[in-house]
Amino acid sequence: MVKQIGRFEYVRVPDPAPGSGEVLVQVAVAGLCRTDLKLIEVGHRDLVLPRIPAEEVVGEVIGIGAGVSVNWMGKRVYLYPGTSCGKCPPCLVGAGNLCREMRIMGFHRDGGFAERVVAPVDSLIELPEGLSYEAAVFAEPLSCCLNALELARLKPGERIGIWGGGPAGTLLERAARSMGAASLVMEPDAGRRQGDRLAGMPAGLVLDVAIVAVGDARAYQQAFSALGPRGRLVVFSGLLREAAIQSLDLNRLHYLEQTVVGAYGCSRRHGEQALEWIAARRIDVEDLITHRLPLSELGRALDLVRHRVAMKVLMYPMGKGSCNE
Ligand SMILES: [Zn+2]
Repeated sequence: MVKQIGRFEYVRVPDPAPGSGEVLVQVAVAGLCRTDLKLIEVGHRDLVLPRIPAEEVVGEVIGIGAGVSVNWMGKRVYLYPGTSCGKCPPCLVGAGNLCREMRIMGFHRDGGFAERVVAPVDSLIELPEGLSYEAAVFAEPLSCCLNALELARLKPGERIGIWGGGPAGTLLERAARSMGAASLVMEPDAGRRQGDRLAGMPAGLVLDVAIVAVGDARAYQQAFSALGPRGRLVVFSGLLREAAIQSLDLNRLHYLEQTVVGAYGCSRRHGEQALEWIAARRIDVEDLITHRLPLSELGRALDLVRHRVAMKVLMYPMGKGSCNE
């Protein structure tokens, strides 16, 4: 649990009781992402303390609250981390992630770094038959990528550049390729560069879409400069405050009719789409898992993410866990 920014502690808490319209889920796997590290170390705009983090969660329904169908008992589920009102202007245009009443698991309410978690039944998406928990937990990061590609209005045959070859950058690349785009990944870190990834931006690169999946202002400058006519720059990663307030060349934007668009989180429908794509093997995800750790090793897990040693780290609150370094 995070009680104050900068540290976390292990706390014994009573099993949460599902209220009306809620279920109790036994957590099978919770994904660790850079956002969790950021949330614990420096806080986050949407964080309310004290809080159990983790917004990438899959598990089994083991309890139901009032008004919830008993059919949910024993179901294997992915928990879409948000709850939205369904009535406000963003909700009505399909951007539930921007709902005025948005509450996010792991930020406003407790998340999956625990044996059990309570979730609204409306946030559950049942796992397709045969899909493993380990593959299904990628639905959350992949959903955020699908939201970004939707906002980028990516079309088949277009050229897309992705800055950052970590788990998010890799999922963006795979999703973009599966949509018929030609993708390039820029990854300055040699330890993380594999296959056809580039150390830096090739001279003369002209892109239709640029997505920055690293919190680095220089990457944003590069990405913007590589955009061609009618190019779209997607602001996928947040920046520290000082770096975020930098001006773009608005004349370039004007003459080349370019677009800059932000992408933050995902809507429930992206979760459904992500699970379908993973289950259909349209996108492979399990090869990205480098570490499987029990929750008791969260400190070590955060170190792996901090030093970019790991690709994807999965946490096992029920104690199971191994490492395939
Ligand atoms: Zn709403």
